[in-house]
This record gives sequence, C-alpha cells and structure tokens, in this order.
Amino acid sequence: MYFDVLVVGAGPAGLAFSAMASDMGLKVGLFDRQTKTALKSPKNDGRDIAVSEASRKILADLGAWQKIDKAEISPIRAAKVMDGDAPFALDFNPGSAGADKLGNIISNHLIRRALYAVTSKKENVTLFAGAEVKSLTRDANTATITLEDGKVYTSQLAIAADTRFSAIRRDAGIKADMHDFGQTMIVGRMHGTTPHNQIAYECFRYDGGLAVLPLNNDIASVVQTFSAEEAARFMSMNDEDYARATEPRLKGIMGKLCCVSERVAYPLVGVYAQSFYTQRLALIGDAAVGMHPVTAHGFNFGIQGVANLVGHLRRAHSRGLNFGNMDLGNVNALKAYNRDHRRHTWPLYQLTEKMMDLYTTDTIRARVLRKAALIAAQGALPVKDVLMAKLTGIPVRKVIASKLPALPRLP
Ligand SMILES: Cc1cc2nc3c(=O)[nH]c(=O)nc-3n(C[C@H](O)[C@H](O)[C@H](O)COP(=O)(O)OP(=O)(O)OC[C@H]3O[C@@H](n4cnc5c(N)ncnc54)[C@H](O)[C@@H]3O)c2cc1C
Repeated sequence: MYFDVLVVGAGPAGLAFSAMASDMGLKVGLFDRQTKTALKSPKNDGRDIAVSEASRKILADLGAWQKIDKAEISPIRAAKVMDGDAPFALDFNPGSAGADKLGNIISNHLIRRALYAVTSKKENVTLFAGAEVKSLTRDANTATITLEDGKVYTSQLAIAADTRFSAIRRDAGIKADMHDFGQTMIVGRMHGTTPHNQIAYECFRYDGGLAVLPLNNDIASVVQTFSAEEAARFMSMNDEDYARATEPRLKGIMGKLCCVSERVAYPLVGVYAQSFYTQRLALIGDAAVGMHPVTAHGFNFGIQGVANLVGHLRRAHSRGLNFGNMDLGNVNALKAYNRDHRRHTWPLYQLTEKMMDLYTTDTIRARVLRKAALIAAQGALPVKDVLMAKLTGIPVRKVIASKLPALPRLP
C-alpha cells in the first residue's frame, strides 16, 4: 500500500501532523501501537498541560480546540516563581501587557481525544492502531516501514513522533543529547480550602521543584519533584498522608489539601536530537525535543514545530506541483524546518536544563546564583518578557513597551 507520508506515533504531535498533512491533500498512513479504543478515549495520564496562546490557535485552526469541553479549560490568570523558602517572587502579570491570561490548562488526555476526533475524520488519513512499527528503512526515493506483523508500507517521507525515546530516531542514526535529571515527578490533582485565584505557582526547592497549576473550582494539579527514592516513598503513601505531607511543602498556598485524583510518577529525562531530519525522515514532538516539564513547553514546542514543518512542506509541495516534480522528501523543506525549530526551542531547552541543575544543587554558590538569576529576570533582563510573550502570544516588543512610562502629550 502506498502513502505520501508515513507517521509513527499518534500522540498529539503525530495526530496534529497527520490532520494538517491530510488538509494539504496528502495520503497519510498513521501508526500507533495502542489500540483504537485507547487512542479514541485515552485514559487520564495525570499530565495537565499549560497550553500557550500560539498553540491554542493551532488547535483551533484544526477544529480540535472546539471539541474540548469549556468546563475542562482552566485559565492561568497570573504566575509566581519562588526560590525555595525565600519571600522574593518573580511575578508574571499578563494584565500589564494587555492580556487577560497567560494561557490555559487542559488535561493531556482531553487534548489527545480532541485531536483524535479531528484526525480520524480526515479522508486522507488511514489509521493503523495496534500496529507496532519494527523498522524504518530509507533510500534516495522512498521511506519504508515494516510492522511487527511483517506488513510493509512505503512513502516519500516518514515522520517520527514516537516519544522522546524514539526508536526510529535511533535506527536512523540521529544522535540525541539526553539529560537524566536523576529525579522523578509526581503529578496529581488536589482540592484546597484556600482559593488559588487561578494563579500558577512555581517553587524551586533544593530538594526538588514544586508547582501548582490552577484548575477550575479550586482544584490544582500539584506537581512535585523528588529523587527516585523519595518519590517512591511519596507514591506509596495513602491519599490522606500524601495530602498532609504536601501541605507544608506548599507553604499554605492552598490551605488544607485533599487528593481528588490518582497520582502518576514520571522519571525526568530531557532529550534534544542533534538534527531534526535526515534523508526522507523528519522528527517531530518529543522525538525532536523532549523538554523537562517545568517550563511547560514540550507540547507547545511539539505542536508549533508541526505547524512549521507543514508550512515548509506546503511551500515545497506547491512549488513541486508547479514544476511537475512533487517530492515531499525535498531536503530544503526539511532543512528549513530544522533551522526554524532549533532556533525556536534551543534557548529555552538550554535555559531549563541549566536552571534545573542550579535548583537541584544546594551549595552556597548555587543559592547565590539562583537568587541573582531571579532578581535579574524580574528587573534588568528581558527574560521574563520573552517568556510572557511566548505564553500569551503578544509580541515581545509590545510586552516590553507596555512597561515603559507613557510619553507626555505634546501641547
Ligand atoms: C508530567 C508532565 C507534565 C507536562 N506538562 C506540560 C505542559 O504543561 N506544557 C507542555 O507544553 N508540555 C507538557 N508536557 C510535555 C507533553 O506532555 C509532551 O511534550 C507531549 O505529550 C509529547 O507528545 P508526542 O506526540 O511527541 O509524544 P507522545 O504523546 O509520547 O506519543 C507518542 C506515541 O507514539 C507511539 N509509539 C511509540 N513508539 C511506537 C512504535 N514503535 N510503534 C507504534 N507506535 C509507537 C506511542 O504509543 C504514543 O502514542 C508534560 C509532560 C509530563 C510528563
């Protein structure tokens, strides 16, 4: 069976890419090892995703945003970043830049469900569920996928969207920088007796980070990072003990806590592929950039990278149509995606790694450095403005301009 593009992985990145490619008129084969039922109605995996304005627009253009129940979308009205027990906080107030929120929080499984609902309706997409991809081979003209059951499919281009531990990436010989943070993140929803007023809190502690992602009805996704040993201890607690052990760590931000969901643990590994393409293959989503969740950008980078890649393919495709040479493996399009997506992701990937290393080291030097970094971010440097612009979608020059004093009016 022949396709224009073969996509490995029907997570958010693979689903979004397939829908956009189908809209270009391409025939897409989409493969995932999960069953159709699991893809259609994914189970809650504990991840609550902070979706930036740019990503919201991409989801809305696809028609996926409209499929998410409004009651399940929680706005982030402001954010505070704190250094351990110190009173100093770095404030993010979108109101100062003319926006009413920093972004929205939505459960990962609802995003997946919405994207599946859109993509599975596309005429040009053939979904192969329960299909374990065993290998990908490529030559000058084709990309060929072989499944575990021996079936073979060919195309002009293959897309790897098969998680940060991408086997397709490894088989294609693309190296990746991997950073094992030596830590495990526990996520779970909790209700608090003190309203959080839709403010997100990020607290960096030397024994691990802690974040409160505000959901509707004074529930929050409480994210805690520990050493693997400590995480195992916290995971083994019953709900009551977990709530009591978490309250002092939150310093009363949410008052008395009560667990309202199961907890899920994620070992933390950051991954950055040394190239996002090679002959007849492009990497997207976590297979290209697997972020530490602390800066809430893995999904956002993934979906924005997909939009960028599709834009370059569309231009190459229409040029090809005009010249009678329709080659999706057009290396210039893949090169352009690689260049743009690296520019877009590399600074924050690096910053996140350095920041996490700084915040998991409890030397006096590290303490001084992190305080200095927070103060610099609050005042002198445009770091905060860049982050706020990324989240709200307001151009960074406008965010900076909004802080300048108004000029007196000329008579
Ligand atoms: C706790 C946590 C919180 C997070 N919070 C945020 C946040 O606030 N904001 C944000 O932007 N991001 C966040 N992220 C990151 C975000 O969840 C990921 O970046 C995103 O889900 C990755 O999507 P993906 O499509 O690349 O991969 P995945 O969702 O991992 O999907 C990959 C798919 O590939 C399939 N697959 C793999 N190998 C094969 C094979 N050989 N054959 C067939 N199928 C295969 C799998 O079954 C899977 O369905 C968070 C992550 C975690 C862990």
